[in-house]
Amino acid sequence: MTIETRSPEETFETGFRMGERARAGQVYTLAGDLGVGKTVFTQGFAKGLGVEEHVNSPTFTIVQEYEDGRMPFYHFDVYRIGDIEEMDEIGFEEYIAGEGVCLIEWANLIEEILPEERTEILIEKDLEQGFDFRRITVTERK
Ligand code: ADP
Ligand code: MG
Repeated sequence: MTIETRSPEETFETGFRMGERARAGQVYTLAGDLGVGKTVFTQGFAKGLGVEEHVNSPTFTIVQEYEDGRMPFYHFDVYRIGDIEEMDEIGFEEYIAGEGVCLIEWANLIEEILPEERTEILIEKDLEQGFDFRRITVTERK
């Protein structure tokens, strides 16, 4: 599935609709260059899950937990990860196996430990279509 957006608000809305449909135990991965809109998408997604707390990139903690939505929401940003071992240390396996929803920004950096069953989201720019244009591609992996 491919969605095209032309503003941050439209990307937020795309995330919101996916968050509304998310089910317990699902894993979502987000890939795309710096500044492409992964966090904007995530903020909409969290809102769709019913999270009212403000969501920002958890740059210094790898994972941020939100408990005030329909189900627990675990937001990972693994951009600054040095070694894959760090994921063990934070208990990545437990998060993945748990009843919450996991969303991982920069998931391509930890490809080897991602669960096979996941929803992949790729956000890309296309400058020929304008500065605020984004193409969002969603792929279900089983
Ligand atoms: P990332 O998390 O991928 O590094 P952010 O979500 O933090 O990126 O930032 C995306 C930036 O791009 C924001 O400043 C946002 O306002 C801007 N932007 C412009 N057009 C769009 C769009 N269509 N979708 C999402 N963000 C957009
Ligand atoms: Mg981000």
